[in-house]
Amino acid sequence: MPEATAADVTRAVEAAHRAFAGRDWAGLTATARGKLLYRLADLVQAAAPRLAALETRDTGKIIRETSAQIAYVADYYRYYAGLADKIEGAHLPIDKPDMEVWLRREPVGVVAAIVPWNSQLFLSAVKLGPALAAGCTVVLKASEDGPAPLLEFARLVHEAGFPPGVVNILTGGPDAGRALTTHPKVAHIAFTGGPETARHIVRASAENLSKTSLELGGKSPFIVFDDADLDSAANAQVAGIFAATGQSCVAGSRHLVQRSVKDAMLTRLKAKAEAVTIGTPDQMTTEVGPLCTQRQRDRIQALVDASVAAGAKLITGGTTPDGPGFYYPPTILDCTDAPDAPCVRQECFGPILSVIAFDTEDQALTLANDTAYGLASGVFTRSLTRAHRMIRGIRAGIVWVNTYRAVSPIAPFGGHGLSGHGREGGMAAALDYTTVKAVWLRTSDDPIPDPFVMR
Ligand code: NAD
Repeated sequence: MPEATAADVTRAVEAAHRAFAGRDWAGLTATARGKLLYRLADLVQAAAPRLAALETRDTGKIIRETSAQIAYVADYYRYYAGLADKIEGAHLPIDKPDMEVWLRREPVGVVAAIVPWNSQLFLSAVKLGPALAAGCTVVLKASEDGPAPLLEFARLVHEAGFPPGVVNILTGGPDAGRALTTHPKVAHIAFTGGPETARHIVRASAENLSKTSLELGGKSPFIVFDDADLDSAANAQVAGIFAATGQSCVAGSRHLVQRSVKDAMLTRLKAKAEAVTIGTPDQMTTEVGPLCTQRQRDRIQALVDASVAAGAKLITGGTTPDGPGFYYPPTILDCTDAPDAPCVRQECFGPILSVIAFDTEDQALTLANDTAYGLASGVFTRSLTRAHRMIRGIRAGIVWVNTYRAVSPIAPFGGHGLSGHGREGGMAAALDYTTVKAVWLRTSDDPIPDPFVMR
């Protein structure tokens, strides 16, 4: 795959900047923009099997997951297609008798979108959908670890009939990313990736003073109380940590369990982890495929080793298998006596579950919030009142009660702290790509009275 040079990045941003002001795009009604997005949605849906196969081949994400996810990506474009002509301004009841004042919501300008390799089509849709609905133009940089699906997607954008320059897709790594985020004509940087890269991006935004929205990692708590349906909780926990081979920002990687049901949960989780079908990602029967890169697998092994050295007890997994492919087995570590082990504190981005027991609801909440991240969380209980107390107390952008890892274009998605800021999904995301213009219109025909008094 080619790496975009700084000159390529400049060409793309210039094209986006020209298109932003050009009649072919700026002259479209919001409804017409919505129609283009509907067309794109239909094309994505029709191409879903091809895109899914490509993403699986390029990243190792299992076909079972990519097929379902890409079919759903079409619905994200549909949601924002419908929203395009519902982004409204406002009329203000201004405190001056001879004035009409109203607000126009206008697109912010050129958006630089940067995505990681996991779920690229999905993570692009949550940026492109609202940005295009709002009337922005976009330069999207794929991840150097798996850019093929986005190049195929670029064909669909073209086929949908978006004017040239409205959507530009680049391949390349940090160098292209740096050139893009510091470009003076970029108005908003929408980034998904790790916190370390996010720090670079925020520093880069000091160059162009662009807005940033940051969707970063997580260390999400998955809390099980003794009154929960334990079988249901175990299934959700397996989905929450072993799906996508754990390479998911919302992975429920800290299993907080009430001590009286700890053994019952560990028995269930161990049995399920060991029964998982590990295999090549292109088989529909595979449940856990390989990690995306060797680098990622080495990092995970080092994290597990350091956690065991810090006192975490290995319940299952924990060893890199022999043979080809970047496979790593579902791994469970009991960290009750090692609450500061690296696997409890750091995002592993792999199939690693850290278990910690608690006694009281207050302890559960303290443990849940004892993290620098704040993206997602799960609570399993049959008590309605306790669920409400937990919902109030947990500091995270998402709380799932008696379920986990559910997403929708209608619901905002994002977090606090090291998990970033800004929200993707929902109406707020489209507004995030707009800026407000206050318009003042004087309705009096009399001459302006005193030129030295502010009106
Ligand atoms: P990463 O931060 O290493 O890379 C992400 C992207 O940033 C890539 O496209 C990369 O080329 C680019 N990049 C790297 N250096 C850059 C720089 N200096 N300037 C501009 N761009 C630069 O992340 P990764 O390892 O590819 O992905 C894993 C991370 O993404 C995890 O932390 C995960 O939690 C996070 N993630 C978050 C969400 C979410 O929605 N919150 C979703 C998926 C993944």
